[in-house]
Amino acid sequence: MQVVIIPSNTLNFNFYGYTFLSSNAFIYDKAYKVLDKPNFSNYKEVMKMTIKTPPSFNVSGLGVDPLTQRIKEKEKKWKYKVAVLSGKGGVGKSTVAANLAAALAKLGYFVGVLDADVHGPNIAKMLGVEKAEILAEKADDHFEMIPPTTEFMGQVTPIKVMSMGMMVPEDQPIIWRGPLVTKALKQLLGDVKWGELDFMIIDFPPGTGDQILTVVQTIQLDAAIVVTTPQEVALLDTGKAVNMMKQMEIPYVAVVENMSYLICPHCGNRIDLFGEGGGEKLAKKENVDFLGKIPIDPKAREASDLGIPIVLYEDTPAAKAFMEITQRLVKKLEERSKA
Ligand code: ADP
Repeated sequence: MQVVIIPSNTLNFNFYGYTFLSSNAFIYDKAYKVLDKPNFSNYKEVMKMTIKTPPSFNVSGLGVDPLTQRIKEKEKKWKYKVAVLSGKGGVGKSTVAANLAAALAKLGYFVGVLDADVHGPNIAKMLGVEKAEILAEKADDHFEMIPPTTEFMGQVTPIKVMSMGMMVPEDQPIIWRGPLVTKALKQLLGDVKWGELDFMIIDFPPGTGDQILTVVQTIQLDAAIVVTTPQEVALLDTGKAVNMMKQMEIPYVAVVENMSYLICPHCGNRIDLFGEGGGEKLAKKENVDFLGKIPIDPKAREASDLGIPIVLYEDTPAAKAFMEITQRLVKKLEERSKA
């Protein structure tokens, strides 16, 4: 088996054939440099380090390209493919995606999380794997990245994560035009050793843009969870995201309301900071399911900053809400797949 170690904090990882891959020698240097202090404890299959030929991406221009073919093969092994999206940024979409994944793992499912927010990737940090080394191994005529598995408080969980956040330094923007982003996304789907998964959770970028179209046109999603906060301005944009999913014929679309209310730490009263019941009203208007409300919870933010989803951190009201929402989603998807 041939293995190449891709340095985690460089853009020169495995978007083979593109300009930022300055020279093969550069990659080899980096690869060997990483090898000097390897951390192979989790990767027993890494036996030997041989790099013979630089990997190349075959753009034939004829028929279905090999990458798309690989994605088609891989997606057969993912039982439910669930996208998490929002009309606007900052409503807690990535927090919901990370906690949904963690709650599913807690319920005993094998989960993959793909951060499709190439320009603002947060999932790796929220799941504590932003510093993970990305390994890749040779598979036939291409290389496949091995997604790091999450570990919380010393316990390995069955969540595999792939995010651009693991590949670029935290403060570096990714300045790519559309075609490069499309290629990157497709590689994160097709050039990653995802294996069998019960759930593939895809964290979309906010809004209704290009990256979402790429994923929706590439794989067959089973569900789209649209995250909103209760206030009017967020709801307007959420309506657009819900309609996009409906127009793209995603079989199951549902709304989750985040930051619904705050329990005052002093008096214990409930404060509806952003208004009340907006998410539920929107779901009714759009004729989609409403899966539940998540309160504002300072512990959720604290846990997220530590790289631990709240559902695995502390049993707070937000953690309970995430567990209930996840159970409702599982039930809905299972009922639908039986029908
Ligand atoms: P988005 O993906 O929509 O941009 P994030 O998931 O990154 O939003 O969340 C934005 C910030 O809000 C993060 O710091 C996150 O920890 C925090 N946050 C999200 N949901 C909650 C919540 N229910 N209670 C407290 N903080 C939250």
